[in-house]
Amino acid sequence: MENFKILGISEPVLRSIRDERFESPSEIQEKSIPLIIAGKDVIAGSATGSGKTLAFAAGILKNAEKGRGIQALVLTPTRELAEQVAQALSKFSKYKPLEIIAVYGGVGINPQIRGLKTADVVVGTPGRLLDHIARNTLRLGKVRTLVLDEADRMFDMGFKDDVEKIIRKCPDDRQTLLFSATINKEVVHLSRRYMHEPLQVSVDSFVDPKKLVQTYYDVADDQKFSLLLHLLKNENSDLVMVFCNTKRNTDKVTKNLRFSGIDALAIHGGLTQYKRNDVMQQFHTGKFCVLVCTDVASRGLDIHGVSHVYNYDIPRESKQYIHRIGRTARAGAEGKAINILSRPDYDNFGRVLKENDVEITEEPLPAFAKAAIRQPERRVNKPISRKSQQRDRNRRRF
Ligand code: AMP
Repeated sequence: MENFKILGISEPVLRSIRDERFESPSEIQEKSIPLIIAGKDVIAGSATGSGKTLAFAAGILKNAEKGRGIQALVLTPTRELAEQVAQALSKFSKYKPLEIIAVYGGVGINPQIRGLKTADVVVGTPGRLLDHIARNTLRLGKVRTLVLDEADRMFDMGFKDDVEKIIRKCPDDRQTLLFSATINKEVVHLSRRYMHEPLQVSVDSFVDPKKLVQTYYDVADDQKFSLLLHLLKNENSDLVMVFCNTKRNTDKVTKNLRFSGIDALAIHGGLTQYKRNDVMQQFHTGKFCVLVCTDVASRGLDIHGVSHVYNYDIPRESKQYIHRIGRTARAGAEGKAINILSRPDYDNFGRVLKENDVEITEEPLPAFAKAAIRQPERRVNKPISRKSQQRDRNRRRF
């Protein structure tokens, strides 16, 4: 615990760290916490899995006191991340109880309005936060710590203007902490405009290459599913994430895995927020061990014990590969990333190899049985309108 204490973390937070059984600080914690505790504005280059939440929690919890209005605001790109950060903050504030609330779209606004009246710390997505600001149900005049979590993702998702509007509602003398996997032009621009003499820290990589084995299989397109099924049945795994590029594939793979006797769940942008929360709940409790998902839905999810990440489709954007494999081999655990590629994936895979510093070795194809594949159900006897064709095309995009 001494190695956490020397970073300047306050006693109540140290006690919660003890309860979490963290043995030593992660690299980003070691580098950023002393600066955060000293009240500096910090730009931290770090992604999911790096331990960044405790880094900013240490700052928030040092300054916030119960019942003094909203003193800390954390912006996140997705609803799941908002929920997850709020839960992590609650854990770290176990011995210094604070009212922490997550606000995001897709769920009823009234419980949030009630919660905001007594909140000390708010974690939220930009759209819903602006909605509350417009309704005058969120007042930011007392904010002392502002955190922009996964800033690059927020910008990728088109939230830049919203983020700036929210920043401008916070007092000028606040502390601003910005966490981002990549420090790109937009991040630099924002920091110049809204941060006060920010200090930059970064970690080299958030996946320990020694702990993560990356392999690929080159297989005929119509055998992909059979190989996936074979590997799922034969690899010794804990929790598994299977990534697809489209919602349609996500549903198709999930349905066929279930049909073949594997307890799989799908998560993608086409599900309601309630449904997504429900799926995550089931996955967390270990009732289902295989989560089939798109990139959008998986962003920022913190799932413990993922031993295997499968790329059933190779991502179109090569940096997405890094985000995907970062779901495993976290916090010192071992992990495996398995790529199942066929001809349509070659271009994407080529980019992954060219644009990332990764070592992915080819595995010989094992002998496996051909599995029956069912297409996802489509409503028959209904003429397909142009509108629904368009909807279908949009849906297929993720
Ligand atoms: P984060 O990047 O904040 O989402 O954290 C990723 C995961 O690592 C979470 O499950 C944390 O509980 C865990 N974690 C954070 N800091 C440490 C640490 N110092 N030692 C072990 N696990 C940690």
